[in-house]
Amino acid sequence: MRVAIVGAGPSGLFALEALVARVPDDLSVDIFDALPVPSGLVRYGVAPDHFSVRSFRDNIDRMLDAPCARFFGNVVVGRDVSVDELRDDYDAVILSYGASKGRNLGVPGEELVGTIAAPELVAWYCGHPDAERGRIEDLVRTTKTAVVIGVGNVAVDVARVLVKSEGELGQTDMPDHVLALLAEHAVTDVHIVGRRGPVQAAFTTKELRELGELEGVDVVIRPSDLVLSEFDEAEMKANRLVARNVDIMNEWAERELTGAPRRIHLHFWQRPVSIRGTERVESIRIERWARDAAGELQPTGEFEDIATELIVKSVGYFGEPLDGVPFDAKAGIIPSEGGRVTTPDRAGGGLYVAGWIKRGPSGIIGTNKKDSIASVETLIADGAAGSLNNPAKPGSVEEQLRNTGHAIVDLAGWRNIDAAERALGASKGRDRQTIHERDVLIAAAQSAPN
Ligand code: NAP
Repeated sequence: MRVAIVGAGPSGLFALEALVARVPDDLSVDIFDALPVPSGLVRYGVAPDHFSVRSFRDNIDRMLDAPCARFFGNVVVGRDVSVDELRDDYDAVILSYGASKGRNLGVPGEELVGTIAAPELVAWYCGHPDAERGRIEDLVRTTKTAVVIGVGNVAVDVARVLVKSEGELGQTDMPDHVLALLAEHAVTDVHIVGRRGPVQAAFTTKELRELGELEGVDVVIRPSDLVLSEFDEAEMKANRLVARNVDIMNEWAERELTGAPRRIHLHFWQRPVSIRGTERVESIRIERWARDAAGELQPTGEFEDIATELIVKSVGYFGEPLDGVPFDAKAGIIPSEGGRVTTPDRAGGGLYVAGWIKRGPSGIIGTNKKDSIASVETLIADGAAGSLNNPAKPGSVEEQLRNTGHAIVDLAGWRNIDAAERALGASKGRDRQTIHERDVLIAAAQSAPN
């Protein structure tokens, strides 16, 4: 069985692992990634100061050592090779390319300079080669007060990274230019704004708690934002983790501010109404919502303006379509049944999805394991039923890429990059420093290992 996996993030590599465990003989798996490096959001999404989660990339990276696996980095499916070409070449194709775009708020003023999607900012501080450095760095350098919309873990990550001290970030693998810019500490205040209450916030306790432990940072919460209705109380009773979050926030609300040089402000029940400014963002108008007697959220007509130079939309990631593959544009996912995608022109099996592009941007890294196993089990059942692709041109994709002189980064190339990043880090007393330019990554891949 020859399988192509598109996307070498956690879900793609869990799919590889599931195939290896279930197809003992005659399996070969080629893993394609648009980037010259594997790991996906573990490298370009997980916050660089979350060392233990980030170290998970070593675990998934080891999956590439499977003798049946080959890595094809720096190959963009949809540009360098089409899904149809993959289907002509492989018995099965698994799309696991994730969700990398940010969602919009849909409020007036969103187009102003100074509004940015959280995935763009996260990609920048993680050293993603496609990050728009000039634009993002101009914004960060000239921002004193940032507003982050959304109260999920990404919002908490972004707020923390923006105010964290140089010492606290110094041991991360962030590129030097990111560390240097963040160390300037232009940003003194970050407002995190939730449209519902503290009970409904999407962040987890560990991530929340960290905000209260940052050096030189006060957490500011208005006690009135923590007042709960009977409906919230009932929701909280049913969820111990939520109750813990609320306890932490109540403690912060009662705590004396220390006069620290930087602040994180947590707001609840506030919806963005409009973003104001002439060319650059100057403020955001938010409106307070409250639960009515039936527990429904209703606008109160109470508005507040927060002066800000940077608005980070942290309201969820969103997947992108791929030519020749059905796409649910509302949900940002590829619709499937048990992981099998049915295209109108090619009935039956042969095309599968796994991870965020299958189910949307939710869960922790490990959630993808179960998800990828389910898709692989569907694939294997289709194989047993004889309904995979029946490829007409095995080997054609590799041949086409090599004939056009495409710079493929293979597993040995990635190991060279890995070694180069560790050596760069070691020269500065760190475990690793991320190389952020694509041409430097490719040059490192092609260089002989030391
Ligand atoms: P998320 O957890 O889905 O949170 C999105 C937030 O945006 C929610 O608070 C949501 O509020 C809010 N929101 C959505 N649309 C909005 C709108 N139009 N206006 C205002 N607020 C809006 O998404 P995420 O933070 O991007 O995280 C994605 C996934 O990665 C999650 O599963 C997360 O746990 C995971 N992750 C985990 C970690 C970690 O474990 N350390 C770190 C980063 C990410 P509503 O609830 O009201 O919709």
